[in-house]
Amino acid sequence: MQVPFLDLKAQYLSIAEEIKNALDEVIECNAFSGGLFVARFEEQFASFCQGKFAIGVGSGTEALWLSLLALGVGPGDEVITVPNTFIATAEAISLCGAKPVFVDVDEQSHTMDPSLVEEAITPRSKAIIPVHLFGQPADMAPIMEIAQKHGLFVIEDACQAHGAEYRGKPVGSIGDLGCFSFYPGKNLGAYGEAGGIVTNNAEFNEIIRMLRDHGQTRKYSHELIGMNSRMDGVQGAVLSVKLKYLPTWNEARRRNAEIYYKSLKGVEGIVTPKEMDYANHIYHVYAIRAQNRQALMDALSEMGISCGIHYPVPVHLQKAYSFLGIRKGAFPVAERSANQFVSLPMFPELSKEQIEYVADGIRKFHLTSPSVMRKREISGRAEVFAG
Ligand SMILES: *Cc1c(COP(=O)(O)O)cnc(C)c1O
Repeated sequence: MQVPFLDLKAQYLSIAEEIKNALDEVIECNAFSGGLFVARFEEQFASFCQGKFAIGVGSGTEALWLSLLALGVGPGDEVITVPNTFIATAEAISLCGAKPVFVDVDEQSHTMDPSLVEEAITPRSKAIIPVHLFGQPADMAPIMEIAQKHGLFVIEDACQAHGAEYRGKPVGSIGDLGCFSFYPGKNLGAYGEAGGIVTNNAEFNEIIRMLRDHGQTRKYSHELIGMNSRMDGVQGAVLSVKLKYLPTWNEARRRNAEIYYKSLKGVEGIVTPKEMDYANHIYHVYAIRAQNRQALMDALSEMGISCGIHYPVPVHLQKAYSFLGIRKGAFPVAERSANQFVSLPMFPELSKEQIEYVADGIRKFHLTSPSVMRKREISGRAEVFAG
C-alpha cells in the first residue's frame, strides 16, 4: 500500500468542476490582481474567522511582515516568539529590522509557554507572536493578559490553523492581528502562493490595505512606502470555492487523528499529540514523537509510507540566526521535540485502511526495533538519539 504524506490531487478531483468554473470566471473578468474575487474572499474569510476585516496578500510570510509594519515595528524593537516554528515567523520580524526574542514552548501543546513570556519582555519589546503550531491554538488567554499588562501587541501566527478554535472562538481574531498562509499544502490552500490577515482594528485594516499596494489610497497617490503584496484574483476565486468545504475537511482531519490515536494506543517508544482542553485542533500536521526517528522513518518508507519532519532544526539554531549567539540548550523543550517529531501522513481524504496501515507499521517497527538498530549500526549509519 502507498500512503503519501499529502495528496492535493484527491481534493482537487472532488471539486474540479467548481474550480474550473471559478478560474474561467476570473479570466473572463480579467480580474487578475486584487479585484472582485479577492474582495469577495476577504469578506467570506473575515466572517469565517469572526473578525471584522480580512485582507488578502501575497503569502503568509508577507502577512506577518505587513502586520508588523502596520504596528510600526522597526529597527531597535524586539518581538517575542517561539523557536519551534517555520522560519518565516522570525524572518518577518527581521525584515522589519527588529530582533526576534525567543521563549520556549509548553511540553504538551508545543506552543508558546505563557509562563516564560514576562521574563522575555524588555523596554524594547513591541509585540508577541504566538504560533498555533500544527493546527493547535496557543494558550491565548494568558498571553493576551500579559500583552495588555505591558502594552504589547499580539499577532497570531495562524498559518497552520485555519478554523482552529480557542475556547470556542476561531483563531485569527483573538489577537490584534491574525496571519494566515494559503500555501497549497495548508488546510486552506490556494493554487499558488497567497496569504491573509484578519483584524478587528479599522486602522490596521486601512494601513495594511495601503502597504500591500505600494502605500497608495488612490492610483499614483502614495502616502506610505509599501510594496506589492496583492493577492491574485485566481487565488481569491479558488479560496472562495474551497472555504465552503474547509469545515468538512477539518472534521475529516479530526476523525483521522482519532483513528491514529486509537490505533497507536499502547505503542511504546512514541508519544501521540495531545489536544489541549481549550483547543479545537485542526491537525494541519499530525506529529508524533519517536525515540528512533530516522530508523522509524526508514522502516515506514520501505512500506510505502511518506512522513515529514516539522521542523528538524529550531530557528535559533539555524545558520541564518547564528548572529543572535543563542547556544544549543537554550530552549530545551523545543530542541528535544525537534529531534523527535515525525509528521505522519495527514489529509482529509486519507482512508481508515491507510491510517491503520501506518499505525501497524509503527507498531511492528517498535516490536522489531532492536534488530533494526543492529542492522543500522553495521551499515554504519546509526543515528544518535538526542533525547
Ligand atoms: C506556512 C507558514 C508560514 C509562511 O507562509 P507562506 O505562505 O509559506 O509564506 C509562516 N508561519 C507558519 C507557522 C507557517 O506554517
